Amino acid sequence: MADVPRELFVAPALRRFAYVDRPLPIGGGQTISQPSLVARMCELLDVRDGDIVLDVGTGSGYHAALLSRLCRHVYGIELEADLAEQAARSLRAAGIENVTVLAADGAAGLPGRAPFDAINVAATASEEVPLRLQDQLAVGGRLIAPVASEGREHLVFVHRGPDGFERSRLDAVRFVPLR
Ligand code: SAH
Repeated sequence: MADVPRELFVAPALRRFAYVDRPLPIGGGQTISQPSLVARMCELLDVRDGDIVLDVGTGSGYHAALLSRLCRHVYGIELEADLAEQAARSLRAAGIENVTVLAADGAAGLPGRAPFDAINVAATASEEVPLRLQDQLAVGGRLIAPVASEGREHLVFVHRGPDGFERSRLDAVRFVPLR
């Protein structure tokens, strides 16, 4: 986390808050997640040196930047073209070269680049982790995603083993909705 300057991923007017442990607005009603939560999700994903990672809901690019320090390559997908462009600029400014940002619907994943060793989702799915994303996990792969059900929102962790998927429900969280 000390390697990634968070101030490069927020608007100039918010830079003085870049090292406060809270979410910040990044435009279009979206937010850059709280650093401690980003750290927790990176830890749960257990990302390793050679991994290829998919980041859904790339937003400012901050979470993707942290993941990129732990793995071989990150594919980031962001629905809002303006945010995707800004994320690519911020990543370049941070000197990060192993993240590819695409403006597209991340709920469909990125079948052309699958399977992924890890999939990180930063927008809340309703009821279930999208099956199309789970299916793009390699055997041994891990996925973390916020999921809402019965008016509550939790991180759901999915591990794909040789015989199928194992799921566990973890921390209560709040993210913007996956559209
Ligand atoms: N990881 C981001 C936090 C982004 S907030 C960061 O570090 O800054 C969630 C993001 O998910 C928003 O930018 C929103 O536009 C995006 N999003 C919502 N639904 C999406 C979808 N179906 N595909 C891709 N991005 C989506």
